[in-house]
Amino acid sequence: MSLSIKEAAEILRNGGLVAFPTETVYGLGANALDPAAVQKIFEMKGRPETSPLIVHVASVEMARTIVAEWPPLAEELARQWWPGPLTLVLPKKSVVPDIVTAGLPTVGVRMPNHPVALELIEEAGVPVAAPSANRFTGLSPTTADHVRAAFGDAVPVLEGGPCAVGIESTVVAIEGGKLKLLRPGMISLGEIEQAAAQAGASHPAPGMHEKHYSPRTRLILVRSASELPDRTGAYVWRVALGPVARAVRMPLDAEPYAAQLYRVLHQLDAENWPWIAVEMPPDAPDWSAIRDRLQRAAGR
Ligand code: AMP
Ligand code: MG
Repeated sequence: MSLSIKEAAEILRNGGLVAFPTETVYGLGANALDPAAVQKIFEMKGRPETSPLIVHVASVEMARTIVAEWPPLAEELARQWWPGPLTLVLPKKSVVPDIVTAGLPTVGVRMPNHPVALELIEEAGVPVAAPSANRFTGLSPTTADHVRAAFGDAVPVLEGGPCAVGIESTVVAIEGGKLKLLRPGMISLGEIEQAAAQAGASHPAPGMHEKHYSPRTRLILVRSASELPDRTGAYVWRVALGPVARAVRMPLDAEPYAAQLYRVLHQLDAENWPWIAVEMPPDAPDWSAIRDRLQRAAGR
């Protein structure tokens, strides 16, 4: 069953759920202005309602219909990175139901860089609330097949190929002209600070959310092949191959690595190894979002 963008938009307008591709991961979308529709996202995922959703828009103009403030810093960051993997957290307008923001007075908003996502949102004519299209705490989906594996026929899926970025967006809050990093992503805090400095804003204070992006299989992080527990598992390596039953070689650079990471983890998870070990990438700015996701995946 293949779904057209028009049909998917119709489902959204009628209060239903649709999974759709973005450049980061596949999203599980609902009309962000319809609390009953958004409720279905939490039920489908098994996600606690204390966890706010990101609202996806097709333009800055649409973003401005849901935020109460659009400061010059937001304008500058959107100009540089939208459409793209950057979520801005700003004070919300009252049209945004509390269930979207978990009762917070702020809303996370982003314009995704994927033609299918943008057409879908435009066609639906409403902002689309969407977390990743997986069950709560599971691995995020980077292909339509991953979504179908999680939800079967319960959720219609728009096809859009494998996600080019492959890990979730960078999330920054803008409060009183100040920046705060809420979740690292492939757009680094350094790059954002630089743009902010150019736009004349003050320095950010980093902060993090505890959350998992985990396979079912036990995931361990190792500094080198010598730390592998035994030979029975799967080893995701970059620099040094070790003696294991299954090995997957990853790219040396962060961007192609991120684009493949969840696909590789989904694959190995499905193969039921006793453990999956990942050779930890370097402690360098390029790798901070990837290290963050790996640490969360291992921290269960
Ligand atoms: P997910 O949809 O699971 O990929 O995660 C959404 C991310 O955006 C989480 O890190 C949330 O904590 C963050 N987020 C979304 N909306 C807000 C908000 N209003 N305030 C703070 N963080 C938010
Ligand atoms: Mg998620």
